[in-house]
Formats: sequence, C-alpha cells, structure tokens
Amino acid sequence: MDLSGIELAFYIFWYVMVFIFGTIIFSFLNVVIYRTPIKISPAKGRSFCPKCHHTLGPLDLVPLFSWLFLRGKCRYCKAPISGRYPLVESIGGFSALASAYFFVDPLYIDFMSAGQAVCAFALCAILTVIAFIDHDTMTIFDWSNVVVAIIGVASFFFFKDITWLERLIGIFVVSLPMYLLVLWKEGAFGGGDIKLFAALGVFFGWKYNLLIFFISTVVGGIYAAIGLAKKTKKRNEHFAFGPFICIAAVLILFFGKAILSWYLGYLGFE
Ligand SMILES: [Zn+2]
Repeated sequence: MDLSGIELAFYIFWYVMVFIFGTIIFSFLNVVIYRTPIKISPAKGRSFCPKCHHTLGPLDLVPLFSWLFLRGKCRYCKAPISGRYPLVESIGGFSALASAYFFVDPLYIDFMSAGQAVCAFALCAILTVIAFIDHDTMTIFDWSNVVVAIIGVASFFFFKDITWLERLIGIFVVSLPMYLLVLWKEGAFGGGDIKLFAALGVFFGWKYNLLIFFISTVVGGIYAAIGLAKKTKKRNEHFAFGPFICIAAVLILFFGKAILSWYLGYLGFE
C-alpha cells in the first residue's frame, strides 16, 4: 500500500482517536465491573475512592493517564489504586484498535463495515465485563449473556456470511453437550458458562463456536495443569472458566476466518 504523507497522517490520527475512544468506553466498564457484584447501580452517583470515599474529579478520571500520573495512588489519601483500572482501559483501547483495523478502512468507510466494527467492539466490551466479574465472583450474570445474544442478533445484519441456520445450530452445538455433561456429572461446568456458549452461538454460528470451545478448554486446561503443578490449585478445586471462554471468543472474532481456513486446509478440505 502506497500512502501519501497526508494519508499517513490521517491514518495515525484516526487510530489514535480510536484508541482513546476505546479507553474512555472501557473506563466506564471498570465501574460496571466494580459495582455490579456489590449491587450499586453504575449509573448512580459520581465515582469515588473505595478507601477514603472522596469523590473523584475530572483530573482523576482521565483513562490511563490519571493512573500513570498519580502513580497508582489516590490523590487524596494516597491509597494504592488497583492496576485493574489501567489494564481494563488498555484492553478497551486495543479492542477499539482491532475492531477498526480488521473491519473498516477510514478512507472508504461504509454502513456495513462500520456496523461490523461496532458489533465487534460491543462484543469485546461485554466479554471484558463477563471475564472480570467471573474472575472476581465465579458468576456470569444472565443479563450479560442476554447482551451477548442481542449483539449476536444485531451482527446478523452486518456479518452476512454466517446464516441464521448456522447461528441457530450455534446456540446448541456447545451448550447442549455441556448441559448433558452437567446432568451426568454435577458441577462439571457452571450454568453461566453454558448460557454464555448459547449466546456466543448467536453471534458466531456453530463452526466458530466449536473453535471457541476447543481453544478455551485447551487454554483453561493448561492453566489448571500449571496451577496443579505449582500447587497453587487443589485437585477438583473450581476455577472461573468464563475468562478463558471470553479470551477465546475475542481471538476467534479477529482471527477466526484465518484459523478456520488454515484448519480446513490442514484437513484437506480446501
Ligand atoms: Zn482515597
């Protein structure tokens, strides 16, 4: 690709703006992740320091930068602020970058590609919320799975290569076997995990949903094996599977096509 100076400057400006936009949106998700499990409405009241309860001013709320400039400490009481906040904001920046990079060219933007990017970014957002809340509380809330399903329905209008039938099968392809497994061996999976796979099926269809299941169990299995080997986890101790499902889903969101065609080629189908 040959870029003139002005085009290059535009691209750099565009991607910097996209990154900042992502950090701002995910900075709000930090509030959702922190408040939902303790049942405070994210829409209610200004943000405050959890330690000294001082209301935070605009200068304390600039994504990434506030944390960096305050060196991870509250301006008022100097209590350490969790690295969780800049981490989630960075994930937001990179989610927005990836959504923009993979789905739209800002010089030739159209309704369909913009819709794809928005669906992709929205999915990254809810999956981040699910991953962190599940990690903290071992719970995947029903409302968050409903949001995934709604984004899945919306995605049908922009990702036409996955048909309704594939999506319908996608709802059951992983969740039904998981459900049967739970009937047979109680506690094999959490109910939230099963519902999450059903919701992801709406977005991804059955082929990609199988890939997500495969990747998440492999990565989750490796994590559990390392935990056992280092004796930080006990045998039969439960760990949150949701974060692995979410990581696998984001991977498939951006690289699914490439992975699927590589895999089918490997099997000799293409
Ligand atoms: Zn404080």
